[in-house]
Amino acid sequence: MRRLAFVVGAAALVLGVGALTFSSGPSVEALPSVKRSSFEVTAAELQRHARVILVTLDGARWQDVLDQPGALRSTSEPPAMPKTLELVRQNGVALAARTSSAIPLSLPGYQALATGRQTPCTDNDCERVALETVAEALSRRLPAGSNTVAVFASWARLAFAATARDGAVLVDAPPRGPPHPGSPPWEDARWDTETADRALAYWRTERPRFMHLALLDMDEFAHRRDVAGTLAALHAADDVISRLVDEVKALPAAERRLTTILVTADHGRGPGRLWPAHGAYAASRDIFLLAIGDAVVGGEQPVEQVDVRPTIERLFGLSVEAGEGHAIGAIVGSLPAS
Ligand SMILES: [Zn+2]
Repeated sequence: MRRLAFVVGAAALVLGVGALTFSSGPSVEALPSVKRSSFEVTAAELQRHARVILVTLDGARWQDVLDQPGALRSTSEPPAMPKTLELVRQNGVALAARTSSAIPLSLPGYQALATGRQTPCTDNDCERVALETVAEALSRRLPAGSNTVAVFASWARLAFAATARDGAVLVDAPPRGPPHPGSPPWEDARWDTETADRALAYWRTERPRFMHLALLDMDEFAHRRDVAGTLAALHAADDVISRLVDEVKALPAAERRLTTILVTADHGRGPGRLWPAHGAYAASRDIFLLAIGDAVVGGEQPVEQVDVRPTIERLFGLSVEAGEGHAIGAIVGSLPAS
């Protein structure tokens, strides 16, 4: 059930609102956030120049990403994602978030992120998404000639959440199939390093308006109860996010200030010692949403997974289309409500 409070929460990215305590998720007071009071921009500027990079970290726990109590690392080790945390402190915000999918599993979570709705998908073998996704909507609605969007994924089945139809969006994912020489020891996948290299190369040559980079290794190592592997996968993701921020810094100023990097997860993980699994535990519904960029004004409200899509559309100066069920009238502030 979507509630108005969560829709308002999505606006926290650009508004800045009061503190709120999260019962089982991260302590909001402990989350890093830039303190910026306003951001001046028009919808036309956003539609013409904004860019968004969405990075998803499959099954990454908020404790590890935000370096909160309960993190996997030992006290003598550095945080799992120190560069990303510092980028958030300097120029972003970390928000507590909750999954919106029927079950805290990957494909239901990715479909909720892509559509802004809870879809009928309840497991990782469900049908391809039937609704137009955010990537497809951006390709259709952004100005012709400046509407390149792309999805890069380590997990083959993410393609079932990326688009409802073939054609408008580049979806770069491995083929389905068993592990093979050179691939990770899990099915339907390639290593994150290959996915990230392909995404970075594409970013440099094509400068897409929207790019979703979907990383996977951390979930697979976690299922194997491999602490070192999980932390190494998060460290690698930390480096990738840092490199993406460097790419954004290299953009012309007018484009850089309108470019935002969002980082979130498809689901969390089980509580305490049950961290290797997730589908059966309520704690797996606790996730995070990080936003990094000059247009991020701060905020402390938790958001829901279904708020990510309308937040992306708003970052492009696009109103959420009628019929999608979002009470966008609740979102006002420094970004235009057009
Ligand atoms: Zn999993």
